[in-house]
Amino acid sequence: MKVQAVRGTHDIYGQDLLKYKQLEEIVSKYANIYGFNEIITPIIESTDLFKKPLGEHSDVVLKEMYTFKDRNHSLITLRPEYTTPMIRAAITNNLLEKLPQKFYGIGPMFRRERPQKGRYRQFNQINFEILGTNDISADVDLILLADDLLRNFFPTKKIDLQINSLGDKNTLKIFKENLSLYFKKYTRDLSEESQKKIYTNPLRILDSKNTKDIEINQSAPKIFDYFSDEAKDRFDNIKNLLSDSNIIFEINPRLVRGLDYYCHTVFEFKTNDLGSQDTLIGGGRYDGLTKILGGPDISGVGWAGGVERLIMLMRDIDKNEKKTHLILLHQNFRSYGLQILNQLRKNNIAVYFDYKYDLKKSLSRANKLNSEFAIIIGEEEVKKNQYILKYLYKNIQEILTLDQIIKKLKE
Ligand code: AMP
Repeated sequence: MKVQAVRGTHDIYGQDLLKYKQLEEIVSKYANIYGFNEIITPIIESTDLFKKPLGEHSDVVLKEMYTFKDRNHSLITLRPEYTTPMIRAAITNNLLEKLPQKFYGIGPMFRRERPQKGRYRQFNQINFEILGTNDISADVDLILLADDLLRNFFPTKKIDLQINSLGDKNTLKIFKENLSLYFKKYTRDLSEESQKKIYTNPLRILDSKNTKDIEINQSAPKIFDYFSDEAKDRFDNIKNLLSDSNIIFEINPRLVRGLDYYCHTVFEFKTNDLGSQDTLIGGGRYDGLTKILGGPDISGVGWAGGVERLIMLMRDIDKNEKKTHLILLHQNFRSYGLQILNQLRKNNIAVYFDYKYDLKKSLSRANKLNSEFAIIIGEEEVKKNQYILKYLYKNIQEILTLDQIIKKLKE
């Protein structure tokens, strides 16, 4: 039986790997320009780090975390998201003495979801977080960063920004109670999945994709009617700042995000090109989260982007490198050939050697690899210390010394 990857996981190679590397490079460039410092946190964390902050009734905690008992019986979880581990790292390492702090990270997350196009059980996320300010400029700055990155990657693609506000914690509490009361009236009509959330997580019924739920949601209470003056002001000001920055957005009152820790601004960047898994970047404000995790009572705001989904939209990358193939015509010249290879590589020339000792097979391989040059070494060449440099695209060749070849290939 052929060995298989674990369901919902995937290997990254070829074009996807080139894209992954390019994405990493560009993200790190933008992080630098926008003043974010990288943190790499462990993949395993204590289960407690996620359970309460994400919400005992959130989908992630209820059904998606990979949790196991360690040998000393403590509970360990493969991180399902990056915000809480980053805050944990900032607290553990005393990085919150001067505020605000801006952190970013990129790496694998784990969620036991139903795999489909754009949805994996192990996937990579880019995360940007600003800790220690409740200034609305931080929310806007993060949205501008996301917009800037997406425009860099996909200058011609239509990507929509949706925003909403969940108000402050008190607004949200009252709103949830009213939502529960409203949905209670429709208990029998709601989807089975939503029925389970009426009292525990009514916000998530609002973004259900079930047609019956969508219909019931049409007349559900709207968060805007519950806003405190401060929450309304914040949201109005954010909308104005975005418009001043020429950012086009749509207000989506049903945008709630999946986790308990969010308040005030929430946003998502979506595309029409990926089917149902259409969110590229999602984020929002999480005031109070740092305190819940045992740190100072400070505000925070951040976003996460899905690397696999971004890669799916990226164009193929042309490596545009001149490849050179070394062809040895007989095994007797092995030692001689290895020394030539060594010399070329010491001169930073990328050479491919296929261990075939057969002109026809090696030329055919060189063609398949789109190589530009072949260096051919046979008996005559070894005797004279001069070699054939074949220009594979032009079908011409020259006889040159190693120094001359190195000079040519470096041009
Ligand atoms: P979330 O932490 O759920 O807000 O997700 C942030 C972003 O990560 C999403 O917008 C997706 O781009 C990506 N993402 C989330 N879950 C998955 C998954 N299971 N597979 C691939 N990408 C994901």
